[in-house]
Amino acid sequence: MYEIEVDKDKCTGCEECVGACPAGVFEIVDGKSSPVNDDECLGCETCVEVCEVDAITVTES
Ligand code: SF4
Ligand code: SF4
Repeated sequence: MYEIEVDKDKCTGCEECVGACPAGVFEIVDGKSSPVNDDECLGCETCVEVCEVDAITVTES
């Protein structure tokens, strides 16, 4: 299991993580990325790599 956190203060709503995540974890809610399907996370960290403002943290739990 992985825990995904998005720092809403940093997130610009650019949607890069939404498009890049192979598991469909993210949706844009109120203009910010939200990890709505974190149960599906594969731990690949692609989202961390594509986020230009370093808003995403992936932690194995
Ligand atoms: S890539 Fe980063 S800045 Fe862009 S929507 Fe995702 S969390 Fe927000
Ligand atoms: S680590 Fe991979 S599977 Fe998990 S939310 Fe990020 S891009 Fe999606």
